[in-house]
Amino acid sequence: MNLVAPAKTANSILRMKCVASKPADNLNSRVPEHDYYPTGADLNAGGPAQIELQTRAATATRAQFGREVFVRAVVEASNFCRENCAYCGMRRDNRELKRFRARHEQLAEMLVHHRPASVTDINIQTGEDPVAVREIVLPLIETLRRETPLGISVCLGTLTPEIYRELRSAGATIYIIKFEIADAAQYEKLEAPGTFDERLRHVRLLAESGWNVSSGFIAGLPGQTLDGLLKNFELARALPLRGCSVSPFIPGNETPLVKSPAADSNWTLNSIAALRLMRPDWVIPAVSALNLMAQDGYRHGLRAGANLVTINLTPDEVRGDYVIYKRDRFIMTEEHVLNAIAAEGLTPAKTGLADFYLENAAENLKGKKISAAAI
Ligand code: SF4
Repeated sequence: MNLVAPAKTANSILRMKCVASKPADNLNSRVPEHDYYPTGADLNAGGPAQIELQTRAATATRAQFGREVFVRAVVEASNFCRENCAYCGMRRDNRELKRFRARHEQLAEMLVHHRPASVTDINIQTGEDPVAVREIVLPLIETLRRETPLGISVCLGTLTPEIYRELRSAGATIYIIKFEIADAAQYEKLEAPGTFDERLRHVRLLAESGWNVSSGFIAGLPGQTLDGLLKNFELARALPLRGCSVSPFIPGNETPLVKSPAADSNWTLNSIAALRLMRPDWVIPAVSALNLMAQDGYRHGLRAGANLVTINLTPDEVRGDYVIYKRDRFIMTEEHVLNAIAAEGLTPAKTGLADFYLENAAENLKGKKISAAAI
């Protein structure tokens, strides 16, 4: 795995040097032993057993990351999508949805000059829309790399190796590509992106070519059994990931699953806790859908082991049409996010997520060199 970030501009090279020489603040980059694997009883836990599970997860998070939480912003640059996932309102068969592509200049102006001070990283997200990648995302990354110190993540779907390379050369270092469902038959039935094998191949390809890859799965999908939920852990553990999310299934209004029940909140929160115990070193986001699942769901996610929050900076006029779940999505403003962190006794991380991964990689490389010299 290529451990060095690909940024090519003078600014980013300078930034990389500064980062490499800086101590890791409160964030502990030690990679621990991973000997926990969840049981069905863990994922089904309620009452005192659930409190115990989530307290263990919170303790593991504090031991690894202290009280700091990464603060990232997201901009949703296009809601066009060539895929047709049954659980998503942006599926191509949804003809009711007004499709948009944001303007690069509009996003750049806002992110360069008006972003909240707490934001260290940006995630640029789209439906699976290669046109938007070329026309909006690539120029936006180049602008941000040139004009800001922001770490850059992208969540753009399954693309070609050439486009992955161009995105890395432009300055993005984190790729978010969720495997969504670990059960291949259910993956196909719910028309998740491409094919199951292709999705996993791309997760590995991205990691092998030097991206920090974060993946994720959906808890509580219609037809998902406890064994099916457990399979997600087996798959996540086997993949070359730096982070993983758990999203609760929320039935989307304009999807074939509109009449299905929403995810059980215990399954979702216990899955976050179990993921944290399985991989204390992973970055685990609190997704905004936790607030659609239950009142204070977002804060509960932080309590169960999440350590990344996301402020939504998608321009107001198009945000309503980015309907992964349903139109009345819960928009995480800076105020919501910072209030949730403070209410849980946490603080925004001083080190950005991309810088954290870079420091981690540098430490791992140093460790490898030391052990090689000792042989
Ligand atoms: S989940 Fe992603 S790939 Fe699937 S329809 Fe929605 S935006 Fe497209």
